[in-house]
Amino acid sequence: MKITVIGHSSCIPDVGKEMACLLINGKHLIDTGWCAALKMREFGFDPLELESILITHFHQDHYLGLPQLLFYIGLRGKKEERGPLNLVGPADHLERIVKAAEDLQQIPRFPELEVKKRLVPVVPGDSFDLGDLHIDTCAANHMSGHKRQEQAIVYKVTDESGACFVCTGDTHPHPPIAEFAKGVPLLIHDGGHTPAEQAAEVAKQAGVGRLLLIHYPESAAEQKRSEARNIFPNTDLAKEGTTLEV
Ligand SMILES: [Zn+2]
Ligand SMILES: [Zn+2]
Repeated sequence: MKITVIGHSSCIPDVGKEMACLLINGKHLIDTGWCAALKMREFGFDPLELESILITHFHQDHYLGLPQLLFYIGLRGKKEERGPLNLVGPADHLERIVKAAEDLQQIPRFPELEVKKRLVPVVPGDSFDLGDLHIDTCAANHMSGHKRQEQAIVYKVTDESGACFVCTGDTHPHPPIAEFAKGVPLLIHDGGHTPAEQAAEVAKQAGVGRLLLIHYPESAAEQKRSEARNIFPNTDLAKEGTTLEV
């Protein structure tokens, strides 16, 4: 399985820096960043190849790229050849956010832009197949700005080869993730909301092969890496444009 880091930044992007966003085997995207359509092009991928978009939770930095992706696919895609695009995400807001993204396309005035889609609402704990992938989920521990618990999903992705990895999405410290990620070769863990030592502790308890911190503040990157390495030596920082193989 090939996992490309399309973006690794925390919630405010900057010139050349996209927000946390991952591409699996060139055709399944986890979160949409700020403008994943262009970032995918920059790294040599084509949004027309996307079969699914999985959203970890509905904070803006994880879905604002969706309208652009739908526009790109609607404008450039050959409708008759495309199967439906799977749009996967927390059940509480999936339908509303997809509708908002479609409303921005003004489909009644530009019906040629409509992208065939299939919504897959997810509740933490769900397992399902998604094309050639198998997906397991558990809950993250993520608070909204107003101290409300956000429905946020941790995804475990397994492909046909049996390769797998876990992506936490945004999460505050949440020890149960260690049980969910038991023995996976790669854990991609939030390095912003969770202190690096605690992400490393989860990696150690889970016995994962490798830990990648993502969504970390750029200014604290090196410090976070060394703090994590004190507890779990095989830790790196996710860097956009890089591809990992598991
Ligand atoms: Zn975020
Ligand atoms: Zn968030």
